[in-house]
Amino acid sequence: MIRGVILDLDGTVYLGQAEVPGASAFVARCHAAGIRCLFVTNRANRTPAEVAEQLRGYGMPCGPADVLTSAQATARVLPPGRAFCIGEAALLQALTEAGFTICEERPDYVIVGLDRNFTYEKLARACSLIGAGARFVATNPDRALKLATGVMPGTGAIVAAVEAGSGQAPLVIGKPGRLIMDMALAMLGTRPEETLAVGDNLVTDIPAGATAGMPTALILTGVSRREDLAAASVAPTWVVEGFEELWQIISPTSN
Ligand SMILES: [Mg+2]
Repeated sequence: MIRGVILDLDGTVYLGQAEVPGASAFVARCHAAGIRCLFVTNRANRTPAEVAEQLRGYGMPCGPADVLTSAQATARVLPPGRAFCIGEAALLQALTEAGFTICEERPDYVIVGLDRNFTYEKLARACSLIGAGARFVATNPDRALKLATGVMPGTGAIVAAVEAGSGQAPLVIGKPGRLIMDMALAMLGTRPEETLAVGDNLVTDIPAGATAGMPTALILTGVSRREDLAAASVAPTWVVEGFEELWQIISPTSN
């Protein structure tokens, strides 16, 4: 019996600005059946309020508390301290709200997220601070972002530069790591075995859910295709074409 659903966003609930067909109806059915939905994204450059506003635009009942970004997860997983941050306003806001002090010198952490104003100077400072003992943390490892206009470098591309320059590997908070999923479970108040992790990415969403002990569903609305399954490191529990099929799996009346 599924009591909670963790939904990825990009490629699962929306594609660019457009809703994936059936997403709102699925969330409404879940709510009517007493199944709570939480939206969990690796992207760290938008606040939960901004994401919730987009989802409400599709008619989904959703507030900031229904959204967990890797920025939020980073801010809550780490004990607060001084942080040098490569990232955008939403990440800085999440860290500041959680009690972190953003600084350029003597930080406890170097925290790396998506930063479209990334420079060699920031890279050099990050590597030097990590060399001096600051803990290297990455909000997520996604190397590329698929947009309607094409592919652009993601957080993982910046993380890879810092990793190469510092010679150290980061603590990764987002999917496919389990830290963000454990936090999502705590927010839902459900046990892993009664919580379904849903996503479009075989490399991130499915391993993240499986590692945290959840059943998983790959939805074929985004990046991964059925032919990618053979090479996947972790097989999803279910593979569905869309939300109607997904509902048939978890509907309380169907089992
Ligand atoms: Mg996705």
